[in-house]
Amino acid sequence: LYNQVQDLKGNIRVYCRVRPCHHNQTSVGNIDEGSISLIIPSKNGKDGKKTFTFNRCFGPNVTQAEVFADTQPLIRSVLDGYNVCIFAYGQTGSGKTHTMSGPNNPTEETVGVNYRALRDLFLISEQRKDTIHYDIRVQMLEIYNETVRDLLSTDGVQKRLEIRNSSLNGINVPDANLVPVQSTADVLSLMDLGFKNRAVSATAMNDRSSRSHSCLTVHVHGKDLTSGKTIRGSIHLVDLAGSERVDKSEVTGDRLKEAQHINKSLAALGDVISSLAQKQQHIPYRNSKLTQLLQDSLGGQAKTLMFVHIAPEQDALVESISTLKFAERVSTI
Ligand code: ADP
Ligand code: MG
Repeated sequence: LYNQVQDLKGNIRVYCRVRPCHHNQTSVGNIDEGSISLIIPSKNGKDGKKTFTFNRCFGPNVTQAEVFADTQPLIRSVLDGYNVCIFAYGQTGSGKTHTMSGPNNPTEETVGVNYRALRDLFLISEQRKDTIHYDIRVQMLEIYNETVRDLLSTDGVQKRLEIRNSSLNGINVPDANLVPVQSTADVLSLMDLGFKNRAVSATAMNDRSSRSHSCLTVHVHGKDLTSGKTIRGSIHLVDLAGSERVDKSEVTGDRLKEAQHINKSLAALGDVISSLAQKQQHIPYRNSKLTQLLQDSLGGQAKTLMFVHIAPEQDALVESISTLKFAERVSTI
């Protein structure tokens, strides 16, 4: 039933989330269940307004639990054999990591989608344990400058990994650790390792986390204890690199290269999702590592949820408009 309800709503959903304003000057006007308005100042003193429509919009006072409540049915469908992708998109500082992971040292109330999703996976698999046996494994990858690395490597060596496509396993990264987990505690300690591995690169590269994509993947393999039938599902939880445009006249060298890689891969993601939304014949998966990695989980029966994040401050207005335009392009509304 859950999947039927979800199918009626379509396989691509876009949710907009606005974080609390860090100072008084906000550029966000009205937010309701399905739309958000930006206030566009004009020179003659008469402000304009631009309204965008999405599947759901969450204002600054919406809690992590409320955001997750709308995401929850997708988690159940992973255990029914669906592939799911959840993305966090937005400029640096707009709240992507807050949505996916929560703040540093999160409490029960402030933990993000990642933890809640895994908690549900374990809960539901426990409820079904008399009929289905589930094997749950976790992978955590980073894509930086179109290079894939394993965030769960324990030897401190950050090898460059290949994405393979095999008829048996579909898209996979054979050299990345795929760790069996039994409980949310197992997952928390893996996430810790992942964050530490990411932090190691950060000191050398100066906040690399905002300029790389991180992807927590959970593979679920179920075996029906009576029929022997197997079920395979997966969920990718992706905290994307910051979408802000850098001024090409101001940056050079490594920073310019990073910016070009980010622009290219976010554009490729937008192209893939919008061609799926428009039901086009050709889906351009090959244009970035991110879309190659997620190919099996974007399109077909797979379910996609994109959280687009808005920083409400007036000085973020240009980025907010560009974020909402990206979001409209990938939306099916
Ligand atoms: P990003 O990952 O997009 O760079 P962060 O998630 O790090 O952004 O958020 C930037 C800051 O704003 C952090 O201090 C974060 O805790 C805070 N923040 C983001 N979203 C919210 C929210 N919905 N409620 C409260 N604080 C938030
Ligand atoms: Mg972040």
